[in-house]
Amino acid sequence: MQAVLFPAPESISIERVPDPTCAPDEVVVQVARCGICGTDVHIYRNEYMSAFPVIPGHEFGGVIVEVGKAVTDFKVGDRVAVDPNLYCGHCDMCRNEMANHCLNWQGVGITRPGGFAEYVAAPARACYRLPAALSDAQVAFIEPLACVVHAMKRIRILPADPVLILGAGPMGLLLVQALRRMGASYVAVVEKQPARLELAKAMGASFAVPVSADQDAALKAIAPRGFGVVIDATGVPAVIEGAFRYLRPRGTFLQFGVAPNHARVSVSPYDIFRNDWTIIGTFALCYTFLPAIDWLASGAIDVTPLVSHVAPMQEFANVFQQFAAGQTLKVHIEIGGAR
Ligand SMILES: [Zn+2]
Ligand SMILES: [Zn+2]
Repeated sequence: MQAVLFPAPESISIERVPDPTCAPDEVVVQVARCGICGTDVHIYRNEYMSAFPVIPGHEFGGVIVEVGKAVTDFKVGDRVAVDPNLYCGHCDMCRNEMANHCLNWQGVGITRPGGFAEYVAAPARACYRLPAALSDAQVAFIEPLACVVHAMKRIRILPADPVLILGAGPMGLLLVQALRRMGASYVAVVEKQPARLELAKAMGASFAVPVSADQDAALKAIAPRGFGVVIDATGVPAVIEGAFRYLRPRGTFLQFGVAPNHARVSVSPYDIFRNDWTIIGTFALCYTFLPAIDWLASGAIDVTPLVSHVAPMQEFANVFQQFAAGQTLKVHIEIGGAR
């Protein structure tokens, strides 16, 4: 089959590789679409947990073309999305409702071959059957939206909390919509790209604030005592370090963006103490595919405007570099037939 490979850090190739084999508890999925994610950029730069070579891609769905001997609940022809986070189900973390911290965690497209390929093998237990009405574009958003759902379960948003989101990339724009659904009053977004600010407003942001010298004054006018929830959706250390000045007492800071794994920021412990702050992390997702599917199928979350490019696998290197440079919104690689 054809697949995208990161043979080594900072290199991309498209190669013929052997088709995946199907273990007894696995299925083989013919990939329809797979989304490029910021995490793929971190993998490419070797600032994440992958070893090389790796076939990236963890935001995908497709049709089952082979089932392992022990699989009973799926059959060839089923259209599924794959939760790339593979939980063993028997370690202490899995058995204590913290499966995303599974001691035997594996990630499809992270630690094992992923979805930028014609076929990918995955355990049947990681597959989710799809409502027929979901488009391939929506299906490729289930995984990122499942990460947003997990984040919404991690923070305790209070009714009418004012929320500030730093960064309006594809994830920031999903967060805007999710927080409106969660009961935020004002959702303010700070972002440097004007087109993204416009989209943030279209997605329900109350205020779209450009990155500028006047940004602090603009945010102060919106929330004079600070925001109840401040979310970093950039992963940029300098942005994260500056985020706390927008947080009101009793506020919650959510680290959603993925920073390079060697980055450090400095925060005043006195300020955390003095302000009753809560600082929360959110890693990937944890059995949140079903609510993400429901949010998409019900139309509560609109992802169509978030896809700026759809490209064939042959153009991967080109669109990947554009994505990494922040010149695109979500990029989807179309691999199997369109739907
Ligand atoms: Zn992702
Ligand atoms: Zn486990």
